[in-house]
Amino acid sequence: MTQPVAAEQFETLSADAAIDRVLAENSGLPSFTCSFQAEDMIVLDLLRQRVPDIPVLFLDTGYHFAETYKYRDRMTRAWDLNLHNLAAKKSVAEQEAEFGILNRTDPGKCCGLRKVEPLFAALEQYDLWFTGLRREQSPTRKNLKVVEHHVLPSGKVLLKVSPLAGWTWGQVWKYTADNKIDYLPLYDAGYRSIGCEPCTAIPAAGADARSGRWGGAKLECGIHTDSKRVD
Ligand code: SF4
Repeated sequence: MTQPVAAEQFETLSADAAIDRVLAENSGLPSFTCSFQAEDMIVLDLLRQRVPDIPVLFLDTGYHFAETYKYRDRMTRAWDLNLHNLAAKKSVAEQEAEFGILNRTDPGKCCGLRKVEPLFAALEQYDLWFTGLRREQSPTRKNLKVVEHHVLPSGKVLLKVSPLAGWTWGQVWKYTADNKIDYLPLYDAGYRSIGCEPCTAIPAAGADARSGRWGGAKLECGIHTDSKRVD
């Protein structure tokens, strides 16, 4: 019988081997959070070869670039994705009527309403949470592990899996080119971390990829910091 792989041993596995081991050792329901960035498309390319109908959870905040929506729809058709668009309880118009433009006045609240709440509600039904996170993306991600156990505010525990945790930006683009993966055209304009349009800018040369998010006021929306890591 195959022995389970200890968490630290996952750090030495290739991305595809890590995914294979996680799927072999865990029979729970898998999911993948996807903002259709370059890293996401690599993990999704590996996952769809193994779990073709894996739920692809997209946080449809209503504030994404038009290019992101077009690319999401193109790749959903091309890869026949099982896309789940997760929306906030209120539309953008309803939220702005009640609170004004929160991404300018209180981005923490805006991300909480439009990203964290809908994602954590959706994750309740899954056991495995695959992501495209990398340590190199931001100082807030420097301690990221390939596998981590996380507890949602409800107490639900998930295995969070980031197969590209140790990958460099160069590796991301080599895989993308080698595998001829179509990518979000905004990268050609100089963007390196792409989220909602009002909160995304092109980072300065040599700066962290996520330094262009929220005008430097913060680095995370909360979906990767508001759950509690327990190992
Ligand atoms: S990234 Fe900006 S627009 Fe998007 S949910 Fe967060 S604050 Fe709102």
